[in-house]
Amino acid sequence: MISAHYDIVIIGGGPVGMALSLALQDTGISSLLLEARGLPEKDEDPRPLALSYGSHLILHRLGVWNGLAKKTPITTIHISNRGSLGQTILTPQDAGVPTLGFVVNYHDLFRSMHQRLTTSTSGYIAGAIVTGLDTAENSGTVYFNYQNEEQKVTAKLIVLADGGKLAQQLPDVAYQSHDYHQFAVVGNVKAEKKQSGVAYERFTADGPVALLPNEEDFALVWTVSPEAVHEITALNEAEFLLRLHRHFGDRLGKFMHAGKRSAFPLTLKYAMNVTAQRVALIGNAAQTLHPVAGQGFNLGLRDAYELAQEAIATQNTLRGIGAPAMLSNYRQKRQIDSGGGRLFTDSLIKLFSNDNPLLKHACGIGLITLNCTPPLKRFVARRMIFGARG
Ligand SMILES: Cc1cc2nc3c(=O)[nH]c(=O)nc-3n(C[C@H](O)[C@H](O)[C@H](O)COP(=O)(O)OP(=O)(O)OC[C@H]3O[C@@H](n4cnc5c(N)ncnc54)[C@H](O)[C@@H]3O)c2cc1C
Repeated sequence: MISAHYDIVIIGGGPVGMALSLALQDTGISSLLLEARGLPEKDEDPRPLALSYGSHLILHRLGVWNGLAKKTPITTIHISNRGSLGQTILTPQDAGVPTLGFVVNYHDLFRSMHQRLTTSTSGYIAGAIVTGLDTAENSGTVYFNYQNEEQKVTAKLIVLADGGKLAQQLPDVAYQSHDYHQFAVVGNVKAEKKQSGVAYERFTADGPVALLPNEEDFALVWTVSPEAVHEITALNEAEFLLRLHRHFGDRLGKFMHAGKRSAFPLTLKYAMNVTAQRVALIGNAAQTLHPVAGQGFNLGLRDAYELAQEAIATQNTLRGIGAPAMLSNYRQKRQIDSGGGRLFTDSLIKLFSNDNPLLKHACGIGLITLNCTPPLKRFVARRMIFGARG
């Protein structure tokens, strides 16, 4: 049963919007989550997600973690640069945590959160496509289509977790974007050597290639140029495996099998202002990053969690949820974490994706220095795991 008014309406039930909805349950705050997609079984998204140890703690608190059937621990991160000496190896000891993180599949996480939501007290409608929103000083209105009927609800706060399309309707929100002219080819691969908890991140002039431990095998995220993407995804399996072996090197022996391949275009896009009148942006709607350092969802999850904490802290205050004071607190709290994550990811791509021998050499020295400097390693590892709080 849909009410006419809520404290918070969340638009977009991807993993970040769902996390916010779960963080608000049993808090006394009424919320409604509107997701365009229907039942999750009908939608398979093959991308792997490397979750930091910090994200795993949040998902535990939200009651999602134990419902995830497949989660592969990351016990080591191995970073190297093709064509230059130097590597960095990060371990849980470097960061002072039991494990660095876990690899899960986007769709499994989506399904597990969906299941948790259907038994939660928070309002949730799958198959509801939001078509517009407008806001006034004290509330906002969301218009959506559900089962071919136009409906509307009002809220003290509207949260955009839709990946960023609807924010274009808001005059106060402007985006900066940069097209990397790269695609990520993803799929599962089997190598001669079995995975042993090591996540490999190898930089090349065409962009990084990551092999993440995924159950017995590896989840591949291979950055390729727009010119190469169609050719690489269309290769037959044997040619694809050979090409990957030539590109990645012999660290895991030959590649033996590749599952279905998919490609995602890669851009950096971020909102200059993550709040507007009665509106807050979270997840990819606030910032969409290159997947190189596995920061995007981890950052979005912290957006959701901190926004929920802010809403809980202000729900009984005079001005309350969605008022300028609450939005300003949220904005300030997220600034360092999200700006830092963005800068870190973008710098890695710009520094390492090049053919300049001098720069390559400098990057190699950088990796050696990082590897030999425990306090620096600890800083980088904890920053990747816990964000600005690390
Ligand atoms: C190849 C690849 C690998 C990645 N690997 C990692 C990784 O290892 N670690 C990591 O942290 N991040 C990773 N990321 C980033 C991560 O996938 C995103 O940061 C994350 O999915 C963002 O979640 P979200 O919920 O904000 O947005 P989305 O997942 O985009 O969800 C948005 C939701 O909004 C819904 N929606 C859109 N418009 C409407 C509308 N009008 N009405 C209602 N609903 C709407 C959509 O249906 C969707 O469900 C990777 C990304 C890619 C492309």
